[in-house]
Amino acid sequence: MPMETEKIELLGKSLSELEAFVVENGQPKYRARQLFKWIYYKETASFYEMTDLPKEQRSLFDEIAKISIPRVLKQRVSRDGTRKFSMELEDKKKVETVVIPHNSDKPNKYTLCISTQVGCPIGCAFCATGQSGFQRNLTFYEIVGQVLGSKKELQKRLKNDDDDLISNIVYMGMGEPLLNYDATIKSLYIINDPKGINIGQRHITISTCGEVKGINQLAKEDLQVTLAISLHAASDAVRDRLIPLNRKYPLAELLKAVENYIAATNRRVTFEYILLDEVNNSYHDASNLIKLVKPLMANINLIPYNSVNGLGFIQPGKDKVMQFYNWLLQGGLNVTLREEKGADIEAACGQLVMKKSIRSKQ
Ligand code: SAH
Ligand code: SF4
Repeated sequence: MPMETEKIELLGKSLSELEAFVVENGQPKYRARQLFKWIYYKETASFYEMTDLPKEQRSLFDEIAKISIPRVLKQRVSRDGTRKFSMELEDKKKVETVVIPHNSDKPNKYTLCISTQVGCPIGCAFCATGQSGFQRNLTFYEIVGQVLGSKKELQKRLKNDDDDLISNIVYMGMGEPLLNYDATIKSLYIINDPKGINIGQRHITISTCGEVKGINQLAKEDLQVTLAISLHAASDAVRDRLIPLNRKYPLAELLKAVENYIAATNRRVTFEYILLDEVNNSYHDASNLIKLVKPLMANINLIPYNSVNGLGFIQPGKDKVMQFYNWLLQGGLNVTLREEKGADIEAACGQLVMKKSIRSKQ
């Protein structure tokens, strides 16, 4: 039996790629701009909604092409306005995306935390995603699709058509972005395209647990994005226990790669440091951290641990968090304390996981 031909994916195509597509299909070039507008401004997944295309064009495109913007299946809304969207992909796998409101200085602006993998192969000891196992990489268009799908859902829920509702993107959802390097970078360029979604590179952050090969590669791209390194420990003994990848790339190697990255890009790097009680929050840990990070002139972002049932880590009390913060400040570091958002709906960092997969492990 003849195989049914695969439909062409239009999500993720640039304007010139769409032009090639319409011309190949005997259409005038200007149709590409119409498609572009429907996909990237109107977040439209169905050709039949493209009212400025002639009817026969809509059905022709529908026969040969598709726009796979993931659907929001479920959402939960936190007391603080954070929303967690569970989105369904073409193969029915699910991925989680979090919409985080900015503080009151920028009302009606949101940061979107997107995923790059279904699950995560790294398996950090404190992270729900890592403990749920790894299923697969996302394609670049599934990463872009999270932005379009979330924006559309948010506009609908808030009854607000503002095109710039989402002002910042953080690659801090499920998965390790630099282990899905090509898709991550390709998605980044599309999200940044001034003619499309148009989110400035300086408003985009990529977070990595220390994938040195990817950091070296990223240093060669001409990008203005912020790189965040999930450090979480200032000695190999502690880091080995928290982040298995540290055994492949120990601290000295990681910090060397970061130093080279800073030299190559001239960009400041942020170090993320989760505070885990009795694990990495002693005075000794703080002074080791100061020694490691100070020469790099980097920012340190302290994150109180978001608890995940059954993993055995404890969030330190507020006084201990402030004590650690002050130690770093006195040591001359540029330090910020991350506000916890969305913890009541398990939407905070490290809490993203499909509940079923964690249960099936136990
Ligand atoms: N894999 C990448 C990006 C996704 S994780 C990385 O590890 O950087 C995004 C951030 O959430 C990382 O800094 C990660 O260490 C942090 N994180 C994971 N589990 C957490 C938890 N339970 N509480 C607080 N932060 C957590
Ligand atoms: Fe993966 Fe990041 Fe979670 Fe570690 S913290 S398991 S790298 S998602």
